[in-house]
Amino acid sequence: HFEVTDMLAVFRLSAAESPERVAVRYFDSALTYADLDRLSDALAVHLLDNGFQRGDRIAVQLQNMPQFAIAVLAGWKAGGILVPVNPMYTERELTTILTDSGATAVVGLERLWDKVIAPSVAAAGVGIAISTSELDLQTRNDPRVLSVVPRTKVADLLEITARNEGRTPPPVEYAAGDIALLTYTSGTSGIPKGATNTHGNVSFNAQGFRDLVGLPRGSRIFGLAPLFHITGLVSELAGSLALGGELVLVHRFEAGAVLDALLETRPHFMVGPSTAYIALMNHPEVTPDHFSSLELAYSGGAPLPGAVVDAFEQRFGPYIHNSYGLTETTAPATSTPRHQRAPLDESSGSLSVGLPVPNAVVRIVDDEGNPLPLGETGEIVISGPMVVPAYWGRPEATAESIREGRLFTGDVGFMDEQGWVYIVDRKKDMISASGFKVWPREVEDVLYGHPAVREVAVVGVPDSYRGETVKAYVSLRPQASASPEELIEFAKQRMAAFKYPRSVELLEELPKTATGKILRRELRARG
Ligand code: ATP
Repeated sequence: HFEVTDMLAVFRLSAAESPERVAVRYFDSALTYADLDRLSDALAVHLLDNGFQRGDRIAVQLQNMPQFAIAVLAGWKAGGILVPVNPMYTERELTTILTDSGATAVVGLERLWDKVIAPSVAAAGVGIAISTSELDLQTRNDPRVLSVVPRTKVADLLEITARNEGRTPPPVEYAAGDIALLTYTSGTSGIPKGATNTHGNVSFNAQGFRDLVGLPRGSRIFGLAPLFHITGLVSELAGSLALGGELVLVHRFEAGAVLDALLETRPHFMVGPSTAYIALMNHPEVTPDHFSSLELAYSGGAPLPGAVVDAFEQRFGPYIHNSYGLTETTAPATSTPRHQRAPLDESSGSLSVGLPVPNAVVRIVDDEGNPLPLGETGEIVISGPMVVPAYWGRPEATAESIREGRLFTGDVGFMDEQGWVYIVDRKKDMISASGFKVWPREVEDVLYGHPAVREVAVVGVPDSYRGETVKAYVSLRPQASASPEELIEFAKQRMAAFKYPRSVELLEELPKTATGKILRRELRARG
């Protein structure tokens, strides 16, 4: 276990060690650790002046930008719990989260103010509202820009920090069990639930990630995942703060902009969902040079097909290390160690998601919750210092999924003799075709081996004869062509008759969540 179990203390150690080091880089602006400390002090003072109290919730609906880091630290310095919100959320979704969390403060994007944030803030009765713009900090402070950028009437984050410059909030300390984040699951499986990631959870995984990547302090980290998601918040932001690293942010994932930023910033390390890597490798202008500064690349939060790892390594050099985790495990619970390669399961072709991270205990259990022997497939259950104690205000949901510190993940998988973990699929995504179990990911892994395939998602569609039948939605690589018949034949030659897709539909793009996960639910509804 780590000695520091307070995320604010983790930040303070890095800030004290190297105040002049850049903490967050965003286009032309660079905030040092000292800047971040000073600006978050000033914002925390504003929150406290306006009645914010210990344990209050502060919602943050921002893109990846320096103000995100300022708001997170200010929230903690004011004694608060951070509630990150997806900037794609509409008024209805934001209101649900503000109400469920009982937030008393919101920091949100200026351009979302009138349509989304103002009505939600009014509906949920939030008292402290702060807006900020995606313009970078330098242009934002430039009087020539200030005169032309439209302003809302609510308090502006950078005006607040300028006004309170030099003021410091009273010191705060956290115990390991105090809640640091209230992270709402994205709702791919239903109504969002708030996971209560404690300071112990977050600081454990942030320091664990720092040690796992083993890069020197001050290394430059490129964040592909959005900061409102646990991967971005913990493995990028908290992990970088623990490493004393420089986090490079691009306001939203767009492959061309990310490639330009890679050339400009030459990062040592990159982390993001598999879908981000797939988008980058299929961009028409991508070259090996874009990735030549990388010493290490990690993927987490979504399935990573072995064929993608191989193609990426062959064409561009870096080997993508696979990690697996959930919102409820505060990002990674298993990971591929730096100098190792994840093995492939021969029978299914699935790439391992890694070994349990230190102190994580992974068990495979049957439907009654009894442990299964190594190699057998069942539900993945995780315990350890990264597992949240509960869902916010949901005793039933907590009792269902988190029992005596053990998280029932809803993922089906197995573990080999060496302890490598493999995910077969999510329990609820299983297809029952003529009474046979078909796991979509196995079919997807096979189709990813076809050279024309860019992305694929497999779902079960109702069938009067078989109950359900297997259908694949496929998007093709630029300039590549393949007919549905050819893809069906490709799969048919590589898998049992009950598994291969009976139909394939080609789409330009597969529908995704803002975190880059393919929305199988939406595809299932299409039929
Ligand atoms: P909800 O819980 O509301 O459905 P969500 O699926 O977005 O939302 P997250 O906590 O973001 O919730 O995602 C966790 C899930 O992502 C895991 O349960 C697992 O199914 C999947 N996952 C994460 N990493 C990997 C990986 N490396 N390989 C395969 N699947 C992964």
